[in-house]
Amino acid sequence: MGTYAVTGSASGMGRETVDRLRADGHRVIGVDLKEADVVADLSTHDGRARAVAQVISAADGHLDGAVLAAGIGPGNGAGRARLIAEVNYRGVVELLEGWRPALAAAGNAKVVVISSNSTTTTPMVPERAVKALLAGDVDKAVRAVRLFGPVAPALIYAASKIAVSRWVRRHAVRPEWARAGIRLNALAPGAIMTPLLEEQLASPRQAKAVQRFPVPVGGFGDAGQLADWIRFMLSDAADFLCGSIVFVDGGTDAHFRPDDWPEPVPARRLVGYLRRFRN
Ligand code: NAD
Repeated sequence: MGTYAVTGSASGMGRETVDRLRADGHRVIGVDLKEADVVADLSTHDGRARAVAQVISAADGHLDGAVLAAGIGPGNGAGRARLIAEVNYRGVVELLEGWRPALAAAGNAKVVVISSNSTTTTPMVPERAVKALLAGDVDKAVRAVRLFGPVAPALIYAASKIAVSRWVRRHAVRPEWARAGIRLNALAPGAIMTPLLEEQLASPRQAKAVQRFPVPVGGFGDAGQLADWIRFMLSDAADFLCGSIVFVDGGTDAHFRPDDWPEPVPARRLVGYLRRFRN
């Protein structure tokens, strides 16, 4: 049986994942703002550092996997944009960088980052906000969306999920992850009925946007079903899964982007990619 770290363990998809892993007999170290083995505020540098240190200590330096599910939805309010960027981007990347040696120690670890289908279905997300996050500059990312007024939180939410997805794809294939036996992948859910979605549905403006969004199979997703996907992506079935973003969204991404992907690698980039890679 393995040892797993799960952030966002107190609610929604994180909690459903914890329940399943524990029922399977695994040891789980939950991280959240409350009701968790490690209580830490992932919106702050100190909280993230505490989550890194306390999880490694509780796991005796050996993690068979990690699920990064803590997240803030695109709600309203002063300071929301910064909070979203801190939790949804830094709260993933800084923890994974800190936990990497413990994941490598397992020799065959799996990581699932919870992204979102907002990555491909939200219009007008400023590319400079995504780039700023990837460069570690939250202030710049927040400035890049501020002029969009009431939709700024939705834009920074999508930007944070795009940035974290690109971070996953860039790092998953690097030797220090791929050759250390760590499989790094992301799950991109659509609208899933959890407290995060309930918060959106409680605001008339956001509820209208959510309800108007096309979902070809209809309705909302179920947190337990998403946890089953996470459990599968933590299993040996994922040994050959590396840098993938798995969309589980009732068909919304396919509806909006039927022909955008798969797309062949541009010839001008191919030579560089081949040169950089050694088997
Ligand atoms: P949720 O609100 O039920 O759970 C999120 C958890 O994150 C909560 O337990 C919360 O306390 C924790 N959290 C928030 N801020 C934190 C902080 N500063 N420090 C530590 N923990 C913190 O939501 P959920 O829907 O289960 O969300 C899980 C993940 O899925 C999130 O990353 C979210 O962005 C993503 N997601 C959700 C949906 C959806 O429709 N529910 C869709 C796409 C992606």
